[in-house]
Amino acid sequence: MPQRFKRARAQLIELIREKGITNERVLRAMGKVPRHMFLESGLHGRAYEDHALPLILNQTISQPFTVAYQTSLIDAQPREKVLEIGTGSGYQAAVLAELGARVYSIERHEALLQRTNAILDGLGYRVLTRLGDGTKGWSAVGPFDAILVTAGGIEVPQALLEQLREPVEGKPHARLVIPVGGHNGQTMLRITRTGPDSYEEEAFDEFRFVPLVGS
Ligand code: SAH
Repeated sequence: MPQRFKRARAQLIELIREKGITNERVLRAMGKVPRHMFLESGLHGRAYEDHALPLILNQTISQPFTVAYQTSLIDAQPREKVLEIGTGSGYQAAVLAELGARVYSIERHEALLQRTNAILDGLGYRVLTRLGDGTKGWSAVGPFDAILVTAGGIEVPQALLEQLREPVEGKPHARLVIPVGGHNGQTMLRITRTGPDSYEEEAFDEFRFVPLVGS
């Protein structure tokens, strides 16, 4: 990996740490992923500012702090099977892959996905992606240890709850992290599957994501 931006990346990680992210595994993973490579070349110089930035088709790459926040809530463990909804730039998927998770990701925009697949491949990240409506999950490869939604929905899709695996002794419970709310902001929720028919919900801070568009 080119040394370019190494210093800027290290400074970004320190900033995110100061903003309250304490999960060292997440900070280390984000310190390895070259965020500029997921952006158009005209935006490379801004890749290590803590801002969301534009992608094609009116979509955005999430703010690094938000990626750190969601990734900390999911706390993906090595070998865990993780589904991301909203591949977008591919940056979040790459961070999950750096954590050693087996990453699956769904995106609804074909042009964006083709571009992103090429970037992930080029960087050597093994992420299995699919074009489609992520609100339905990916039942053919589920159930998942964790599901991370990176677009804001008005409710929690039932299919995603069903595709969280049931509790297994000695393993962390399966969890879904999803921003839920209206147009002007969403509350970050973490829903943990504690039994075949039981789930626990925790509410965290407010964020503002691009809309989750689906059935
Ligand atoms: N995780 C991305 C953030 C992308 S923004 C990153 O790291 O860059 C959210 C993405 O979700 C957009 O690309 C949008 O097209 C996609 N999206 C919105 N609704 C969707 C749905 N129902 N299924 C799959 N993707 C969806």
